[in-house]
Amino acid sequence: MSDKDKYTVVEAPEGYSGSGFFATTLDKAVGLARKNSMWPLPFATSCCGIEFMATMGANYDLGRFGAERLSFSPRQADLLMVMGTIAKKMAPVVQQIYEQMAEPRWVIAVGACASSGGIFDTYSVLQGIDKVVPVDVYVPGCPPRPEQIIDGFMKIQELVGNEPLRRRYSPEYKAMLESYGIKTDSYDK
Ligand code: SF4
Repeated sequence: MSDKDKYTVVEAPEGYSGSGFFATTLDKAVGLARKNSMWPLPFATSCCGIEFMATMGANYDLGRFGAERLSFSPRQADLLMVMGTIAKKMAPVVQQIYEQMAEPRWVIAVGACASSGGIFDTYSVLQGIDKVVPVDVYVPGCPPRPEQIIDGFMKIQELVGNEPLRRRYSPEYKAMLESYGIKTDSYDK
């Protein structure tokens, strides 16, 4: 039985909204703030990175979505955007960067190379970053146009806005991270 069948969502009772106010859940309020103030870390290794530069430029302007503050430090980033071919030698670095980011954190694989290795089906290229870190959104294309990158970003915003606060502490989430060899010891402290 799906969650949808188990629970009935009812309309807010009278008195929870009115002129100039409304009551909501903490999850929704936090989600709204988070999704409109993402701090992306652009991890650009090749051509897809150039498309990202265009995405940040005046024509497309990712800043319109509240994400103009790029972070080149994993400690102050909550969205890892991997754009380009990732060599197997680079894979541990991608994972280390992911581990250095504080929770909650999200990941977009931008373009065919980051998503699946792209045209480089060779001994030296990682066949998708989801071999080393969990990916939330994949953006197809070689390279994807800035519109596609923006579309992927908006999908992330949807996920961020609807994520329950308790998800990151759930045993399922920890088990998923551990399946990538990512330590979760600090989650219990
Ligand atoms: S997906 Fe295509 S454009 Fe993007 S990094 Fe790979 S080869 Fe370059």
